[in-house]
Amino acid sequence: MDTPITIGISACLFGKNTRYDGGSRHEPLLMEALGQFVNLVPLCPEAECGLGIPREPMRLEGNPENPRLMTITTRSDLTGQLRSWSAQRLDTFRDEALAGLILKSRSPSCGKQVVVHGKGNGETGYSPGLFVRLIQKRFPGLPIADEEELRDPARLADFLARLPSR
Ligand code: SF4
Repeated sequence: MDTPITIGISACLFGKNTRYDGGSRHEPLLMEALGQFVNLVPLCPEAECGLGIPREPMRLEGNPENPRLMTITTRSDLTGQLRSWSAQRLDTFRDEALAGLILKSRSPSCGKQVVVHGKGNGETGYSPGLFVRLIQKRFPGLPIADEEELRDPARLADFLARLPSR
């Protein structure tokens, strides 16, 4: 019997209340569509690196080639904390045989392409979220999609086709 493919998914899309405001961004239709084909492993970089739920909202700031993860009100730089957790979490990806990831759009940690802000109201460009940047560096070519893309059945089929067969 074939071993099912396993992919990681942002925990808030999976339905867990891991967002900064204590809520989720559950995508039940997407979960149902994916569940027929793959095992899903939820993960939340911000909660699991110890930032807590709820937590202060944050955003990417600075140089789009090397942005910092900053809280908006208290101006705490969380870059090192999230990077440190990510380095350990990514060590386990091969053991889990994660074949791809579905991540929350627009998140400063999970988003594939996120606005980077200056110190004030201006924008300096775009960057992958901090967790995504580290994934792409460690595992170039690993299929990654976000929920906005996968609401399109054609793009969902394309993403599934890119996953390696087991
Ligand atoms: S977008 Fe990512 S970091 Fe934010 S709550 Fe969802 S899983 Fe956690």
